[in-house]
Amino acid sequence: MTAPDLFDTHAHLHFPEFAGDLDAVLERARAAGVRRILTIGTDIPTSRAAAAMASRLPGVWAAVGIHPHEAAEADDAALAEIERLAGSPRVVAIGETGLDFFRNLAPRESQEQAFRRQLALARRTRKPVLVHCRDAHAETLGLIGEADVRETGGIMHCFSGDVEIARRCLDLGLLVSLAGPVTYPKPGALPEVARFVPGDRLVVETDCPFLPPQPYRGKRNEPAYLAVTAARVAELRGEALADLAARMSENARALFSL
Ligand SMILES: [Zn+2]
Ligand SMILES: [Zn+2]
Repeated sequence: MTAPDLFDTHAHLHFPEFAGDLDAVLERARAAGVRRILTIGTDIPTSRAAAAMASRLPGVWAAVGIHPHEAAEADDAALAEIERLAGSPRVVAIGETGLDFFRNLAPRESQEQAFRRQLALARRTRKPVLVHCRDAHAETLGLIGEADVRETGGIMHCFSGDVEIARRCLDLGLLVSLAGPVTYPKPGALPEVARFVPGDRLVVETDCPFLPPQPYRGKRNEPAYLAVTAARVAELRGEALADLAARMSENARALFSL
């Protein structure tokens, strides 16, 4: 049986968790069918590391941005550096950015300002935006609507809302990305969301090293485990994994112009 054609649209491969065995991680990813990986920066150092990693590894691309947890450091100099990095070869998106009112590691005003400025930056650099949203759907979707990202598009990463929120994301021009939680015994509204989102607007991700799918919970997540999440989504939709995987990879390639 040949492996499905998978695209991990949200990984943090340049994080220290992978420093010791990256080659083996990439080998297992390839064996599982994960041919393309987007590695995502969360602050200035990790955005630099993501861009550098993408420039030397085939099949890996990068996104640069400042995570809501780090929003307090998103001053003029930091945003100028993100904009400079956005011009590097193989940097194909801005993010992750967004709002996290669950952990509130940065003040809400800083988060909103950093998000607004990165939405504007995505527009200016003509790159799609990768949105992180936790317990802040109304505010996040409001700011995306104001910025109007329909021209460049983007992804609502690790989608955690319900069908109504998914509908609003689609209306705003975003793709919906499902991660490990869709495989959990208590997946909330995610199975319904997996069935609701049209096939040409859906992608999957690991968010590794975080959020492993059910069989690997408690362990470090890695791109190879995307196959488990994709298989669950295909099962929920009643589609063949190979067909759905190819379609989702095509969605990601179109968004990132690969
Ligand atoms: Zn995130
Ligand atoms: Zn992430």
